Amino acid sequence: MRSVAVFCGSRLGARPIFRQAAEAFGHAVARRGLTLVYGGGNVGLMGALADAALAGGGEVVGVIPRFLMDREVGHAGVSRLVLVDSMHERKARMAELADAFVALPGGLGTLEELFEVWTWSLLGLHAKPCGLLEVGDYFAPLVEFLDSSVREAFVSPQHRAILSRAGDPEELLDLLAAPPPPPPAKWHEPGAADLERS
Ligand code: AMP
Repeated sequence: MRSVAVFCGSRLGARPIFRQAAEAFGHAVARRGLTLVYGGGNVGLMGALADAALAGGGEVVGVIPRFLMDREVGHAGVSRLVLVDSMHERKARMAELADAFVALPGGLGTLEELFEVWTWSLLGLHAKPCGLLEVGDYFAPLVEFLDSSVREAFVSPQHRAILSRAGDPEELLDLLAAPPPPPPAKWHEPGAADLERS
């Protein structure tokens, strides 16, 4: 693992621990000599994360759509700022540049980005690990829901297992760097109706 893409809030959130965790994660990424790939903004947790990685001497690549340069305040101090034309292009470039994906606390954008790259791995489009950095139990209701979706047989245990979760940046990076389990054979298990039709 040489690079990690991080999705996180364009806001700081209600509690100071969110900013502290983003900074701790940025430092940990830099300490390991990993390239940080992120959304390129200088606002909210995105800015705190990038600043911490840069302060730790890390390489930081921001990927930002031109139309968001003002709203998310394109970070002028990153090692490389990649300007793209759309949100879709941003996600695709971030996915190409990264060997693993992490979500820190964030809003709808963060969740959308995480779920899209996670579903790409379900479809066999990549085999890169995904993880959640837990901070103050922010993700606990989401994890509870995901586990219930496995119990309800809408998500396979193998696909669920692709998403790790840890509260400590070093522990999460260790989990992501560990050799991945063999990929699930197929993303769709045929149900009885499918078998009858075939
Ligand atoms: P948020 O978690 O809503 O604060 O957003 C975090 C980041 O996700 C910001 O950089 C947003 O621009 C980005 N974002 C929001 N919606 C999308 C989307 N549909 N696809 C990709 N990125 C998005």
